[in-house]
This record gives sequence, C-alpha cells and structure tokens, in this order.
Amino acid sequence: MKYVKEIERVIETEVLVIGGGTAGFGAAVASARNGAKTLLIEKGQMLGGMATTGLVGPFMTCYDDEGENQVVKGIFEELCRKAEERGGAIHPSKVDNMSTYCSYYSTGHKHVTPFMSEVLEVVMEEMVLEAGAKILYNVRLCDVLTEGKKIIGVLVSMKEGLTLIRAESYIDCTGDADAAFYAGAKCISGDETDGTMQPVSLFFEIGNMDREKFVGALEERKEKGELGEPGFNCWSWCVKEAKKNGDWTLIRDEVGNYEQPIPGRWKINTTRMTYVDATNTEELTKAVMEGRRQVQELMGFFKKYVPGCENLQLLQVASVLGVRETRHILGRYKLTAEDIYERKHFEDAICTFAYAIDVHASEGNSGVLKSVNSYYTIPFRCLVPEDIDNLLVAGRCISGTSEAAGSYRVMPCCVATGQAAGTAAALALREACNPGDVDHGMLRKTLLEQGAVIWD
Ligand SMILES: Cc1cc2nc3c(=O)[nH]c(=O)nc-3n(C[C@H](O)[C@H](O)[C@H](O)COP(=O)(O)OP(=O)(O)OC[C@H]3O[C@@H](n4cnc5c(N)ncnc54)[C@H](O)[C@@H]3O)c2cc1C
Repeated sequence: MKYVKEIERVIETEVLVIGGGTAGFGAAVASARNGAKTLLIEKGQMLGGMATTGLVGPFMTCYDDEGENQVVKGIFEELCRKAEERGGAIHPSKVDNMSTYCSYYSTGHKHVTPFMSEVLEVVMEEMVLEAGAKILYNVRLCDVLTEGKKIIGVLVSMKEGLTLIRAESYIDCTGDADAAFYAGAKCISGDETDGTMQPVSLFFEIGNMDREKFVGALEERKEKGELGEPGFNCWSWCVKEAKKNGDWTLIRDEVGNYEQPIPGRWKINTTRMTYVDATNTEELTKAVMEGRRQVQELMGFFKKYVPGCENLQLLQVASVLGVRETRHILGRYKLTAEDIYERKHFEDAICTFAYAIDVHASEGNSGVLKSVNSYYTIPFRCLVPEDIDNLLVAGRCISGTSEAAGSYRVMPCCVATGQAAGTAAALALREACNPGDVDHGMLRKTLLEQGAVIWD
C-alpha cells in the first residue's frame, strides 16, 4: 500500500541530534558549544535515556583499569561535578570498588559514579540549554529521506502530525541506530555470528530497609572473602534458599544492588530476559511485562530472605526497559575486542576508555567480565557509517563487534563519543565538508582543548 501526503510542517536546523540519552546529551552540548545551530529531538520527555528513564546507574568507571587516572573527562566530568554540586552524585574520585556503590564488584568497578536520575535529568537539560541548543520532546524519528548517499530530511511524529526536519548534518544517538537503519545504512544486529543480543533488564529502586542490618550482612561476607571475584555473589546464599523453596525463578543467581548518594536508597539490576530483540515491538512488549513480573518476585524475595528488608518499599520501576544491545552500525572502522585488549593505536582516536568487556550471559548464570589492558581508544571512523555522507553515530550503536561493545556501551564512553560526534558535526559546517571527513588533527585538537582525554 502506498501512502502519499504533502508535509506541511518543516523545521530547519544545522545539526540535528536524534535521541537524548547520554550520547545525545554529549553531542548536543558539543555541537552547540562549537557554534552550530543545534536541535535535539527526543521521543520521551527528559534527557538521559537509560540513565534517567531506564534508572540505570551508577556511571561505570571513567578511570583506567588500574584505577589511577581518570580517562573520561570533558563534558562527562562537567556533568559529574554539576550533579555533585546539587547533591545528586558522588564524584568518581571518591568511590572505591568492593563497596555498596558498585554491588561489591571488583573488576572494572573502581571509581564508578553513583547518581540520582532525578538530579541528572535536570542538570543535563540545563547544560544543553546553556550551550545554546534547542530541545524538542515528544518527537519520534519515524523515517529518513535520502538522495544518493545524503540525508535530505527526516520525518518525525509530533502531536501536530508528521513533520519534516532538515539539517546539514545528523547525529544518530537513538541507541538502536534507528536513523542509520531507516536511511538504509548497513547495520548488524547483536553478535555477527548468530545475532544474539545481550539480555535486557528492568531496573527498579528500593528503600526503607534497615540499612545497618542490610549492609552489615554484606560486609560480613566481604570480610570472609565471599564477595567479589570469582562469583560476585551479593545475596547468593539467600537466593539458594529461596530457590529451594520455589521463591526464585530468575535465571541469575545473585543480586546487583547499587547504593545511591542518598544512603539506604538502592538501584537493583537483577531482572533478566534473554533472546529479546528490542527492535521488535512484540518481543519488547513481552519482555517489559516479564520484567515487571520479575520485579514483584524480587520484592517478595527481599522481604522474606534478605536481612533488614522486612519493611522494604518499592520506590519506583523504570518506565522503559533496559536494553544493552541491538544494532551496531557498519562504520568506516569496526572496533574489535582484540583492538581493545592489544590497545591498538589509532591516528584518529577521539576518546579513551577502560571499562572491562562485560557481556551478560544469555545461557547460564553470569557472563564475561574481563579487564582491558590498562586503557584503549576509539577511532573516529567507528562513528562514521560506511554508506551515508552526512550522518554520524554516537553511543552504544557505534561500529564495533558485539564483544567490543561489551565495554564501550557504558555511559561515560557514550558521553565521550557524543562529544566527539557533536564537535565533528560543528567543525564540518565551518569547513564546509561532510562530518565524517573533518580533519582528524583538527578534531582531536578541539576535543583536547575542550577537556577530552585522548591517550595515544
Ligand atoms: C540493564 C542495563 C544495565 C546497565 N548498567 C550500566 C551501568 O551500571 N553503568 C553504565 O555506565 N552503563 C550501564 N549500562 C549501559 C548504558 O546504560 C547504555 O548502554 C547507555 O546508556 C546507552 O546510551 P545511549 O545514549 O547510546 O542510548 P540511550 O541511553 O538508550 O538513549 C537513547 C535515547 O534516544 C531516544 N530514542 C530512541 N529512539 C528514538 C527515536 N526513534 N526517535 C526519537 N528518540 C529516540 C530514547 O528515548 C533515549 O532517550 C547498562 C545498560 C543496561 C540496559
């Protein structure tokens, strides 16, 4: 069936950022600060994506693997500092691993950043507006119009009806690479060998426990050497008991509990739904409903088996499903796990990162959490789709293998790739070239001058 209609509403901008998660936030701030007329569109009603509507946290480590040097700064660092000033975060320099803030994990969990989603969404909004970008909420990208290798406009759904947005450059920060996919750019879903994507999870927050009893029980196990690697183990002894009684049906045998800047308030990362393609509406719907069921089961578990949780309260459940992996674009370069472990040198590196490769298991209980070799860098070419000239991509859907994405998918790195994409789009306007063709030296110089960390 063909549907033909005159588009009456047209919006013009220079740089269009699509999706306001951590990547879109970084991209919009950087693009506007570097002089481009920037519009950020977001289908929801707040910035932050997974960090806010998804209730995901803390920010995973932004330090090298030794935990000695901070390797993500720039816009990410400003965000942490501003959120901390508002009492909504603890700066990563003050946070150790094997603590309540990182669910007693050791590998890759030194210097995480605990934050309150409610504070983050406000700070992010302020920073984007202060940079001079415009935000439009309730705007969902639904199609991309191309001519040859160029995007000539995108169709969005708004309350007013379908609208065309035209820009010089577009930055896809949708997490799922929606814009790249709709434009016909090559994408790979999940693992390229069998299409498996990491499991999805629904986050929730709890409070009103007896914190002394709760933390006391964890500290006691820590002292006995029963928490941390191998096995990460938070409350695994209670899970064992609950399983015996038929009170635990989840496929994961431990609880991920992350304390927030308000003592006694915790984010819970434990629900797990496997073999879900979150770009398939039926599967997404089924998974989020199963996630809500698992939250109820977990509340019953906490109250019955976990010390100090007799009067526990469910504070909130994320309004969107936590999606770790869907499409990866096929860019001018595809980052691999070998590049990460061998710390391959890239002339066009645009950021530094060091979080472990973290692939949650689709079969069995745990997964892979493997340290990197001190740090690694990401080349700009991973942000540039092979087949579209005026599109960049930032965040978890940049070009890399599923295994490599296990590391760079986390939020500090998403802000960093966003900053690089926004900066490149603004520089391209100035230089009158395609955003993927900006001079690498100039891009790297600008990023470094604006606080980014790029180690060679
Ligand atoms: C369960 C789980 C646990 C995790 N744990 C951690 C952790 O502890 N620490 C950490 O640092 N990272 C963690 N991560 C990883 C991290 O949260 C995400 O990979 C990261 O937030 C992705 O950022 P993004 O900006 O690429 O995408 P998102 O945060 O998903 O943002 C995408 C934005 O685009 C919008 N959007 C999407 N499609 C459209 C469209 N068509 N039109 C308009 N807008 C659109 C969305 O509404 C959203 O706001 C976790 C992820 C999951 C799922």
